[in-house]
Amino acid sequence: MTITAIKGMNDILPGEIETWQYLEATARRVFGRFGFSEIRTPVVEKTDLFCRSIGETTDIVEKEMYTFEDKGKNRITLRPEGTASVMRSYIQNKLYNNDPVNKLYYLGPMFRYERPQKGRYRQFHQIGAEVVGVDSPLIDAQVMAMLDTFFREAGIDGVSLEINSLGCKECRPGYRDTLIAFLEARLDVLCEDCRRRYKTNPLRTIDCKVPGCREATADAPKILDHLCRGCDDHFSRTQSLLQGLEVPFTVNARMVRGLDYYTRTTFEMVTDRLGSQNAVAAGGRYDGLVEELGGPASPGIGFAMGLERLVLMRGDDKVAPSRLPLFIAAMGEAATDKAFTLATDLQRNGIEAEIDYFGKSLKAQMRRANKLEARFVLILGEDELASGEAELKDMDQSAQEKVRFEKLTELLKEKTA
Ligand code: ATP
Ligand code: MG
Repeated sequence: MTITAIKGMNDILPGEIETWQYLEATARRVFGRFGFSEIRTPVVEKTDLFCRSIGETTDIVEKEMYTFEDKGKNRITLRPEGTASVMRSYIQNKLYNNDPVNKLYYLGPMFRYERPQKGRYRQFHQIGAEVVGVDSPLIDAQVMAMLDTFFREAGIDGVSLEINSLGCKECRPGYRDTLIAFLEARLDVLCEDCRRRYKTNPLRTIDCKVPGCREATADAPKILDHLCRGCDDHFSRTQSLLQGLEVPFTVNARMVRGLDYYTRTTFEMVTDRLGSQNAVAAGGRYDGLVEELGGPASPGIGFAMGLERLVLMRGDDKVAPSRLPLFIAAMGEAATDKAFTLATDLQRNGIEAEIDYFGKSLKAQMRRANKLEARFVLILGEDELASGEAELKDMDQSAQEKVRFEKLTELLKEKTA
C-alpha cells in the first residue's frame, strides 16, 4: 500500500505553485508599501494561547483545533489562525518598545479539523496583517484600503467589502442581553448548536447558516442600534474615511465574525463565486486582546485571507511557469560533457538551461526541448566541439545563428532580457 497525504491536506504542485508565489509576492509588495514587516512565529503553540484569545465557545476552540500532548506531556496545538501567535510574540518580545505602531504581516499554514470541501481544508494557508498600538479609525480605513489594493493588484475581482461594528466592552454586554432575550422567545425554531450556545455566544446565532436560524433571526435586534457613543463615532468616522479614499464597501449588520476577541470594526471580503465558502478575507479590531494575553493594553486590528480561496477566485487564470530559455542537445559523450559544462556555467550566471541526461537520440532530445517549451536550442556534435561554436536555434521564429561558446551567456542574456 502506498502512503497518501492526510485528508484535507493538499500538495501544491509545480504548475499550481506559480499562482501561489504570485499572490504571495503581490501581498509582500503591497503590504510592504503600506509599512508592514513580516513576522514568522512557530506553527505550534501552547493550547492555552488559543483558548484564551479565540474563546472557549467558538467553533475553532470547541471543535476545530489539532491539539496533542507532546512527549513532555505539554498540551500543544497546531495554530488554527495567526493573530493569537503574533500577539503572543508582540508581548513576549516587547515589540511595543520599538515604536508605538507595529505593522506586521505573516504568511503560512493554519490547521483546523473541519469537513474538507471546496475552499475548506484541514491544512490551509493564510496571509494576514496586524496593526498593534493605534485605536484611531485612520488605521481601520488604511487596513481596509490595503486589502482593497491587494485585490486590485492581484487581479482578483468579484469580491466586495462588507463592514460592521461589534461594539466594545461598554456597549456589547447590553446588546448581548437584548439579543439573548430575543432568542429565548424563539428557542424552539433554532438549531441544536444555537440552542446550546445562545447564552454563551448569542452573536453566533446571527450568522448561523441553518435556514431556520436565519429566518428566526431576520428581525433580531441589531448591534448597530446599540453602540455606545465612542463606538458609534468610531464606526461613522471609519466609513467616511473609506468614502474619502473611494474604497467601496457596504454595511452588513449581520456580520458578527466567529472569534471572541473582536471589538468595534469587523470586515470581510466576500464573494458569491465559492458557494458557502463566501469569505475570502476577514478581520477586525481586537482592542482588548493584548491585555487579555498579559501584555500592556494596546489596541489592535488585523485580517487574514485564505490563499486557497484566492487561488480558486483566479479560476483558470493560472500564472504560467517561467519559460525555459535554453535546451542544449548533444550527440556523443564529449559533446554531452560540453553541454553539461555550458549549462552549469549559464546557471551560475543567471540563465536557466537544461540538458539530456540519458544519452538519448537527437530526435528524443528535441522532443523534450519542445515539451519544455524551450525558447532556444543549442545543438552540439563533434564539429561544434572542434570549431568552438554552434547553431543557436530560435524555436519561436525558426531562425538560427552561430554563436561562439564563450559568447553564449552574453547573447542569451541579451535575447531573453
Ligand atoms: P468560514 O466562515 O468560511 O469558516 P472563518 O470565519 O472561520 O471562515 P477566519 O477564521 O476569519 O475564517 O479566517 C480568515 C480566512 O481564512 C477566511 O476568510 C478563509 O478565506 C480562510 N479560511 C478559514 N478557514 C479555512 C479552511 N478550513 N480552509 C481554507 N480556508 C480557510
Ligand atoms: Mg470557520
